[in-house]
Amino acid sequence: MRILVINAGSSSLKYQLFDMTKQTVMAKGLCERIGLDGHIKHVAEGHDVYESYAPMENHAEAVRAVIGLLTKPDTGVIADMSEIGAIGHRVVHGGEMFNASVLVDGEVIRAIEECVPLAPLHNPPNLVGIRACTEVMPDVPQVAVFDTALHQTMPQKAFLYALPYDYYERLKIRRYGFHGTSHRYVSRRAAEMLGRPIEDLKIITCHMGNGSSLAAIKGGQSVDTSMGFTPLEGVPMGTRSGSIDPAIIQYLMVKENLTIIQVTEILNKKSGVLGISGVSSDFRDLLESATEGNNRAQAALDIFTYDVKKTIGGYAAAMGGCDALVFTAGIGENHVVVRRMVSEGLECLGLTLDQDKNQSMNGKECVISTGNSPNKIMIIPTNEELVIALDTQALVSR
Ligand code: ADP
Repeated sequence: MRILVINAGSSSLKYQLFDMTKQTVMAKGLCERIGLDGHIKHVAEGHDVYESYAPMENHAEAVRAVIGLLTKPDTGVIADMSEIGAIGHRVVHGGEMFNASVLVDGEVIRAIEECVPLAPLHNPPNLVGIRACTEVMPDVPQVAVFDTALHQTMPQKAFLYALPYDYYERLKIRRYGFHGTSHRYVSRRAAEMLGRPIEDLKIITCHMGNGSSLAAIKGGQSVDTSMGFTPLEGVPMGTRSGSIDPAIIQYLMVKENLTIIQVTEILNKKSGVLGISGVSSDFRDLLESATEGNNRAQAALDIFTYDVKKTIGGYAAAMGGCDALVFTAGIGENHVVVRRMVSEGLECLGLTLDQDKNQSMNGKECVISTGNSPNKIMIIPTNEELVIALDTQALVSR
């Protein structure tokens, strides 16, 4: 079966076409600037990289353009659209309604719409992606895979905020958590690599990219995670503040004469390691700058890795141990120094980093703790698209 995986953003659409017999990617690409001047980059097996600039009025046009590229002789990998057996969509917010992936129908669409107030920037484009595919390929089954679903197993003590209870009941204010597809993939893969049933393991997964979150996975279930009601909570990120004292918001509004919209924008786009360093949100730039002696870039690295370390300690305490610590996503997979800084001091949890392996195995799926470390530290490149494709296949094959 061939499965098309779609990740639709407000003006972009990422896609991957999977051949599920081999679980390989036949083609993938990115449509950007939808509704504006339009840009497509398409990479397909057996063809040169294709790029074009042509206006795409909306997401349906982008989907048509993608189908065109997948089926044309000079860029394509399938003869026609009918070879696509199903479509899997990334959907950011499933609220409390979805604890697993589902086949899309009218009721599911309504439920995703109900979650729009919880993810106003993400769910609308995800829905647009689903509707665009319905328009272009009405007979192909579609599946929604939610970032929040994995974390629905969190106990109340982990998901409830200490606010008036009524806000939870009436407004659904609680911790939801995100990056669930990634935390799910790497925790299951860790258990496979260790040759142990996931039911017996306590795993801490560190998804560290532009957005970062950690999850405590006990017996295969998420029992806590660092992102909360929105992806703004938790450890500092590229441009997001992560958790701060909520009183800072009013103080800033008064002192700097800012509106709540402006403060929210600052917390989302001008804070995090960018805000601290004044250099960049990119951890490669931070390291370069810190190495050249920039104290604020060094401070950004220190603050980020200190907070990740504290979160790991908290989750180990919450689970009563940590059999495996997993690093994933852009920074987790590729940043030798960040992994070293996070791991320093974790020997008290039975986690001892092998400095040579940390360096030599950078970017690869492997164990990077020492041979005699009681618990394991691992790098596992994430693969959210594959999870979406596998869930889609499982649901349409039922
Ligand atoms: P997103 O959350 O947008 O998917 P990524 O997972 O791609 O982000 O992570 C982006 C981060 O990963 C950036 O801070 C970047 O510095 C870091 N990164 C990516 N590649 C490397 C690399 N080769 N070495 C060090 N850091 C890297």
